[in-house]
Amino acid sequence: MQEIILIKNGELALKGLNRSTFESVLVKNIKRRMQDLGSFVISRSQSTITIEPTDEGFDTDEAVERLSKVFGIAAFQRAAAVEKDMDAILAVAPAYLEAQLADISTFKVEAKRSDKKFPLTSPEISREVGGALLGRFPHLTVDVHHPDRVVTVEIREKKAYIRCDQIKGAGGMPVGTGGKAALLISGGIDSPVAGWMLAKRGIVLDAIHFASPPFTSPQAEMKVHDLLSQVAKYSGDIGLYTVPFTEIQEQIRDNCPEELFTLVMRRFMMRISERIARREDCAALITGESVGQVASQTMLALGCTDAVVNMPVFRPLIGMDKDEIIIRSRQIDTFDISIRPYEDCCTVFTPKHPRTRPKLEFLEQAEQALDVENLIQRAVDGARFEIIRCTF
Ligand code: ATP
Ligand code: MG
Repeated sequence: MQEIILIKNGELALKGLNRSTFESVLVKNIKRRMQDLGSFVISRSQSTITIEPTDEGFDTDEAVERLSKVFGIAAFQRAAAVEKDMDAILAVAPAYLEAQLADISTFKVEAKRSDKKFPLTSPEISREVGGALLGRFPHLTVDVHHPDRVVTVEIREKKAYIRCDQIKGAGGMPVGTGGKAALLISGGIDSPVAGWMLAKRGIVLDAIHFASPPFTSPQAEMKVHDLLSQVAKYSGDIGLYTVPFTEIQEQIRDNCPEELFTLVMRRFMMRISERIARREDCAALITGESVGQVASQTMLALGCTDAVVNMPVFRPLIGMDKDEIIIRSRQIDTFDISIRPYEDCCTVFTPKHPRTRPKLEFLEQAEQALDVENLIQRAVDGARFEIIRCTF
């Protein structure tokens, strides 16, 4: 018996050209994720994409695991592909469905015939398959109105397909349909989740990390790598810029009022990120900020950070509580990496009493003590680029 995978697209509201772009980007992303699992054929019809392995060694379990991380997939199903012959169908169905029918008590069979030359009608197919399942599994009864599970038998052009459970997909839009944005990633819990959320809406990610050696360690940079590797399983490859930030932080420490340290620093991060983002054709910045989480994330403080950039800043976590963010970070497997105990540049030189109701003019005044343009340019020029690959 051969097993295939049927994939249902998400975002059913899409129409016309959008729909076909959505589907072709989705197919490309699926191919890329599966390419090392063995050979297979992908086909599209209506809103279903079919993956048909063409060699024995194709690892379907691993394929399913990877598909669960591909945005743009609403749901998918595994199905047994058998000869278009009733004896073959009746022989395979009970064995193939055994595990999926073990823990339920009612089912029904739905048959679909796209090949109208098949000798049995749909109701006849349903009856025969239903009978075979009842004979083999005495704990089951048929309930046509509210079954625990629906078994589908589909007679198509070349083969018959038997399937049962629907697996929920990652949802969202295929990555690549929404343009590109730059994620400011810190090594904490929030920013990887923020990046994941926008990748889910189809946006390709670049990432920017500010490092302040020797105050921050190589382990802190390793942590950012590991976080991005995990996000890349969903988003695809991520270009990472590591920006030298020590000089700027020291200059701020030596020349600005202590209660403004964090905000002046955040304004530098935004300015530098915008430069890099524009050069990379990113249309927005993404941060992991959430209103009120820390002093630099009050509404007024966020306004002061936004004042230095001229492109949209996406903050997908803005209205989320920390525990909601943590639930998501556990689900996408970034939490355990995020809680490794290495210092981020934000925790270096933290003021004892940061301003929570900052005034823009005080910040602008404080920054006059610094050679802002040169500091930004040196940081941008000193940034190191690498690609964090999507690997499994
Ligand atoms: P996170 O979990 O993202 O670390 P946090 O609660 O530590 O968030 P802050 O340190 O105030 O929050 O940072 C707010 C946002 O600023 C982060 O979500 C991230 O987008 C960005 N950011 C902070 N530090 C860095 C850094 N070293 N490099 C790049 N971006 C950063
Ligand atoms: Mg945070």
